[in-house]
Amino acid sequence: LPGRVDVLIVGAGAAGLMCAATAGRRGRSVLVLDRANKVGKKILMSGGGRCNFTNLYTAPENFYSRNPHFCKSALARYTQWDFIALVEQYGIPYHEKTLGQLFCDNKSKDIVDLLLAECRAARAQVRTRCEIESVAARDGGGYRLQTSLGAVECESLVIASGGLSIPTMGATGFGYDIARQFGLDIVPTRAALVPFTQHKDELEQQQDLPGSALAVTASCDEGAFNEQMLFTHRGLSGPAVLQISSHWREGRMVAFDLAPGTDLPEWLKQQRTEKPDTHLHSVLADIWSKKLVRFFLQKHGIESRPLKQYGEKALMEIGEKLQTWKLVPSGTEGYRTAEVTLGGVDTDNISSRTMECKSRPGLYFIGEVLDVTGWLGGYNFQWAWASGHAAGEAV
Ligand code: FAD
Repeated sequence: LPGRVDVLIVGAGAAGLMCAATAGRRGRSVLVLDRANKVGKKILMSGGGRCNFTNLYTAPENFYSRNPHFCKSALARYTQWDFIALVEQYGIPYHEKTLGQLFCDNKSKDIVDLLLAECRAARAQVRTRCEIESVAARDGGGYRLQTSLGAVECESLVIASGGLSIPTMGATGFGYDIARQFGLDIVPTRAALVPFTQHKDELEQQQDLPGSALAVTASCDEGAFNEQMLFTHRGLSGPAVLQISSHWREGRMVAFDLAPGTDLPEWLKQQRTEKPDTHLHSVLADIWSKKLVRFFLQKHGIESRPLKQYGEKALMEIGEKLQTWKLVPSGTEGYRTAEVTLGGVDTDNISSRTMECKSRPGLYFIGEVLDVTGWLGGYNFQWAWASGHAAGEAV
């Protein structure tokens, strides 16, 4: 290792590499250290291997934080359009999948290669397999790190070590430990963008359903998301569930509108007028798969008969029961499969313009380690790019 650099960045993930390239281009000497055996592992596994690298509609409203204003400055100064321009500059083919979500046509590695090329062009050095053993502030300014590859001193220290999700990929609580060491507060963390688990008896009732999906509106507290839900062997997943998991707390109820945009009681009444001899289960098969129809009817103990055999009131009641499914998940799959960590280093003590710690000159936090968490859909990477860029311009 060089004994001294201007900027030392811990974590060669999305935010760290963006920061390194930005600072290097300004002529700063930059070193990035990562304990993993290769850089950008989460980028590589993201978006099912195709990295949902940003979202066309990124706005501050797509982020959770104790201070919802904190993310505004950085997002405004490095936007989705800036990152898209970079992707185009490298000729990386991409497409919009849905809801503004931009994915690589080929593979996530295209994005890691882009970041490494940017780092090379900016003469930023990146070293992997490096454990940080200790961090200390130096008298007279700057920081000194003891690492498994030797000691190094820096003027600016940037913590970009990410959140707690997927420990098997090397996630650590390092960033929070450093924050605590320097007297910063941590907003309590929890797994988010994570599937729900259900109780054993419910799973038994749902044993035919894993793999089945349907469009729902999932809601909990003030959150509501209109997307797909997927039944799994452990419970519920799919984008609607991952999104609403960010609003959920232990013991709370989640409501799923199973026919979003349709007033089921009214719709059933209309079906009865049009097809009086058709059985209930077969009209419902217009909205849900046969397996799902069977499950939802069984769940409410509803017998399927020709529609003309139900009175108006009975049919309305059936519609109401079927419209909304309310349940209390037994838990979530936790950090093992969560895409992100909610909470993190409290933004109160961080400059929203530079990501520098107000009480500790020269110490910066960027990316997921901060208490800024995006929705599902490319927002978390956009936060990593934007916060990495903001710090890269300031260090
Ligand atoms: P990371 O990218 O996690 O990088 C942190 C780096 O720090 C890692 O390289 C790690 O090895 C290193 N590190 C950790 N501890 C130490 C230590 N003690 N010493 C040295 N180095 C350390 N977001 C999207 O926007 N779109 C997606 O498609 C998407 N898909 C995802 C899929 C999965 C399965 C997961 C888990 C997440 C996904 N995310 C997605 C979220 C996104 O990956 C993260 O929000 C983003 O990577 C955070 O960037 P970061 O740079 O802050 O942290």
